[in-house]
Amino acid sequence: MKTEIIKIEKDPMDEDKLEYAAEVIRAGGLVAFPTETVYGLGANALDERAVKKIFEAKGRPSDNPLIVHIAQRSEADGLVKNKPAYASILMERFWPGPLTLIMDKADVVPRTTTAGLGTVAVRMPSHPVALALIRRSGLPIAAPSANTSGRPSPTCARHVIDDLYGKVDIIIDGGSAAVGLESTVLDITVSPPVILRPGGITPEELEKGLGSVVGIDPGLLRKPAPDLLPKSPGMKYKHYSPKADVVIIEGTLEKVAAKINTLIAEHEAGGMTVGVLATDQTKNLYPSKNTVISMGDRNSPENIAANLFKTLRKFDETGVRLILAEAVENTGIGLAVMNRMTKAAGYNIIRAD
Ligand code: AMP
Ligand code: MG
Repeated sequence: MKTEIIKIEKDPMDEDKLEYAAEVIRAGGLVAFPTETVYGLGANALDERAVKKIFEAKGRPSDNPLIVHIAQRSEADGLVKNKPAYASILMERFWPGPLTLIMDKADVVPRTTTAGLGTVAVRMPSHPVALALIRRSGLPIAAPSANTSGRPSPTCARHVIDDLYGKVDIIIDGGSAAVGLESTVLDITVSPPVILRPGGITPEELEKGLGSVVGIDPGLLRKPAPDLLPKSPGMKYKHYSPKADVVIIEGTLEKVAAKINTLIAEHEAGGMTVGVLATDQTKNLYPSKNTVISMGDRNSPENIAANLFKTLRKFDETGVRLILAEAVENTGIGLAVMNRMTKAAGYNIIRAD
C-alpha cells in the first residue's frame, strides 16, 4: 500500500490537508495521527471493514478492543448506554485529555471495535490536530496506538513510519506527543470506578475530581494469575517491548546502581551485550563502555513519562541484548511509567538488597 506522510502544524492548521485525511477516514481508510498521549492509528469506528484493517496493520490480536475518539463530549451519548451519573463530572473535568472511559456500548458500535465486548472505551483527546481530524471526518474514530502490536507505543511520526509505513494510507506528522504514555483507562460500569490501565491522568487526580475513591486493578504491577481474566483485554499481552530483554532493578538508588554494576559484569562474562536504562541523576554511575540512556530527571516523573517509549526504541538501534532498567517511584504518573516498564520486562523485577 502507498503511504503518504503529511506534515500538519498546529498553528495555523492546514485545512486542506486535514480535509484530505478526513476524506480517507470517511472512505474507510487508515490514518495515523498525533494525540497528546501517543500517536493513534485511526479508522471509522462504526465501519467494521475499516476497523478490521487497523487490527491487520498492527498485527493486533482481535480480542483487544479499541478506544473510540470523539471531538465533543456530547458525542459520547450516541455511543453508550446506561451512562452513570458521575460520568459527566469526569468528562467535564478531564476531557479533552488522557482519560478513557469504559461504558456499556450502544448498538451502533460494532463488536469488531469492542473486540466482542458489550462495553466501549471512549475518549476525547486534547491534541488540536486529533480534534480537527475527528470533527472534519464527522465520525467517531477508533484508534489504538499506531505501533506494531507488542512494540513500544509511538511518540513521534518517525516511530509510526518505522512500524507502519506501507500498511496505512496516511501518517500525519504533528511533532512529539506531550504526555508520551497512553491514556488512563477507567471502568465506570462499576461503582466505585476502577483503573484498568494507569496513564496520563493519575489516580490522585481522579479521586480529587470525583471526591471519592477509585479502585486499581490488581494486575497492574504484578503478574496476574494465569486463570485471572483481565478486565482490560489489552493488558494480558506482552507489550511495549524493545528488541532486547528488559530486567527492572528496584530498591534504594545506591543499591540499585551497585546491583546493576554487578549484573553488568556477570552478564558480560557470559558474552551478553548490556545496556542500562538510567536517569539524569544516575547515568554516570555505570561504565562508560556500556550503552547508558537516561529516561530523564527523577524529580520530574512527567519528563520520564514523556521519554520512556522513545528511550526504549533507542536501545533497538544500539544492538544491546539485555537492558537493566532502574525502577522509578510509582506514585502519580510514575504508576503508569512503572506499569509500562513492568510489561516491557515481562514482569522480570529484581530487588537490590
Ligand atoms: P491502545 O489504544 O493500543 O492503547 O489500547 C487500548 C486499551 O484500552 C487496551 O488496553 C484495551 O484493552 C483497553 N480497552 C479498550 N476497550 C475496552 C473495553 N471495552 N473494556 C476494557 N478495556 C478496554
Ligand atoms: Mg497500544
